[in-house]
Amino acid sequence: MGMAGMGPGRRGHGLGATIPGALLLVFLGGCGEGADAPRPLGAEGAHEHGVARLDLSIEGSEGALQFRAPAAEIYGFEHAPRTEEEMARREAGLRAVRERIAEAVRFAPELECSISVRDVADDHGAHGHDDHGAHGHDDHGAHGHDDHGAHGHDDHGDHSHSDVEATFDITCAGPLAGSRLTLAFDRVFPGIVDVDLQVVGERSFGGRYRAAGARIDL
Ligand SMILES: [Zn+2]
Repeated sequence: MGMAGMGPGRRGHGLGATIPGALLLVFLGGCGEGADAPRPLGAEGAHEHGVARLDLSIEGSEGALQFRAPAAEIYGFEHAPRTEEEMARREAGLRAVRERIAEAVRFAPELECSISVRDVADDHGAHGHDDHGAHGHDDHGAHGHDDHGAHGHDDHGDHSHSDVEATFDITCAGPLAGSRLTLAFDRVFPGIVDVDLQVVGERSFGGRYRAAGARIDL
């Protein structure tokens, strides 16, 4: 006679195994390595808090980079420094722009690019520190900073805005075109959340990218 051991308990096993596999595929699909799609650029020359501007021109294995950001995102305030502490914060911020840009603007490692600073300045760079102590900010116009009025940031009350600007030379071991640039401003200037990047080279393009981790194909 037949055996009694072939009960109904083994049914349905094959069905259960297919579901985790489908979920795995969904998760893997979310981890692509493609470049980031940019958003539209902000207005040229605008002073927008949280946003840095990068202009990169490329020629072969060399490039030039112009950087501009609100001083608030570099050293925490935009008026002329009034105290020893503010002077020290400003100096530290400008030094970080001078020395640490390569941590924020990261070219492909195999290109072994070196970034050397040509110039760093803010709107307070031209005057000495000690003439700023007591008086208000309305003296900015006299120093030729007439670009302050044009921004129309009335939401900031009576304080003037100030930008930090810097230019850098880039020299690499191979052509920059076709390589990948990564932004990591969060490591150096976490107040910068977006970067308006304009690239001029073999392929010219521009757009607004997130400052922390955007991957951009040059
Ligand atoms: Zn400002």
